[in-house]
Amino acid sequence: MVSNNNTNKMQTALPAAFVEQVGTTHPGLVESLETESPVSVRFNPTKPYRLPASLAGSPVPWCEAGEACYLTERPVFTTDPAFHGGAYYVQEAGSMFVGWLLRRLMAQGEVPATPRVLDLCAAPGGKTTHLASIVGTEGIVVANEVIRTRAKTLAENVQKWGTGNVAVTSNDPTAFGQGLPEFFDVVVVDAPCSGEGMFRKDMGARAEWSPENVQLCAARQRRILSDVWEALRPGGILIYSTCTFNAQEDEENAAWIAEELGGELLPMEDVPAGIEVGTLHGNSVGWHFFPHRVQSEGFYAAVIRKNGSAPRHTPKARPSRALTPVRGQGEGRLAQWLAPNDPVEHYRLASDEKTVYGFSSPMLETVTALLNGRFILLYSGVQLGEWIRESLKASHSLALYAGVNRSAVPTAELTEAAALEYLRKGSSAALLPPDLFAEGLNLVTFQAIALGWVKRIGGRYNNLYPSSWRILHY
Ligand code: SAM
Repeated sequence: MVSNNNTNKMQTALPAAFVEQVGTTHPGLVESLETESPVSVRFNPTKPYRLPASLAGSPVPWCEAGEACYLTERPVFTTDPAFHGGAYYVQEAGSMFVGWLLRRLMAQGEVPATPRVLDLCAAPGGKTTHLASIVGTEGIVVANEVIRTRAKTLAENVQKWGTGNVAVTSNDPTAFGQGLPEFFDVVVVDAPCSGEGMFRKDMGARAEWSPENVQLCAARQRRILSDVWEALRPGGILIYSTCTFNAQEDEENAAWIAEELGGELLPMEDVPAGIEVGTLHGNSVGWHFFPHRVQSEGFYAAVIRKNGSAPRHTPKARPSRALTPVRGQGEGRLAQWLAPNDPVEHYRLASDEKTVYGFSSPMLETVTALLNGRFILLYSGVQLGEWIRESLKASHSLALYAGVNRSAVPTAELTEAAALEYLRKGSSAALLPPDLFAEGLNLVTFQAIALGWVKRIGGRYNNLYPSSWRILHY
């Protein structure tokens, strides 16, 4: 990894009305927004990786030991092959608090041990990847992003993370309320907001801010929340979050959910030091991350338990016509591509009769419900590849899946320079000579982290890194 010395950015002044609002209520906040942003990463527990010692800073206090840390400087992540292999995710420290909340709720029994979670506003996938690591292989995350281009980035990050327990959809929030009533144990709404918490590093957020825009954001958040509410089972948990400081989008909306939609704001014990309890009319309503109090950009979260109690609802299992079971000896052949004891138990062909997916039982149940509900499904489970004449042409996502069977094909471990050439989809004989690879398909790795496939045929090879993912500049 090389360090990023280019810290020049055009500054936009903080909006005067914002400074006036928070200047007296939050002394120290305005000054903190003119300081350098911290950089933090969260590690992928399924992928082996050690951050260079010179980069590793202190741990993020609201994460598990070894789960996440601050960096001593901001490197250029594009030049780190491990980043492309999904070994870690670059995420705001405050955003990781959603993971802290979910773990707590699972430990307290508020949320079942293998929950079905909807991450409604999910792109680019910071919270999705964190939630996917926490819910385990029998838990499920449906990661939705309404904006299609952003949903594609989300699907890419989900494949890199490689947990196999995520389904990526691209629907309007109304689709969930109407199409999957009482389906989810947990709904996370990380809402689009006025972005005051990003003022330190996002000059666009400063430029776009206005009191009117805050009002518009607050109203849109209420619409999104109303539209999705029905998808949460009675007794289920809503985690509402924003990256803004104002009460309209934060405390007032969290209180509105409880009062108008019907729920109870839940307190949490032992919230880590520095995180401030939000208040409204003397009541505690959620938690704030202020950059002058904690090492993080601005963030807000609240937890609401939906009134009532009911088990989560699974629509009657009509097998989806969009999925056909793989027949004959195919299942056994496909299973050989996965490590022993992998949670994938079901192999299904998509409607093109070629693309084959692997699903755990809970994932098959969820995907079936999504397909029967006519959701726009961009990715789910593990896309294994193309099933042609009873043989698998492995897809890139299989290489990145944590459960890929490393004994199924030879592995070619690359140096950093060779790995970057591979990720550029290059084939320079000097950096990436054919004799690095065995005949046939090879799993390409960097520091044991899988990056993709190469197929060697005699004295030449095909670099199978996806063209649309290749790195262009480094
Ligand atoms: N949760 C993401 C993460 O951790 O990486 C960040 C989500 S960002 C704060 C909010 C997301 O909501 C954006 O991806 C945005 O495209 C999406 N969004 C915008 N308008 C929306 C709407 N009307 N309904 C649902 N989502 C919307």
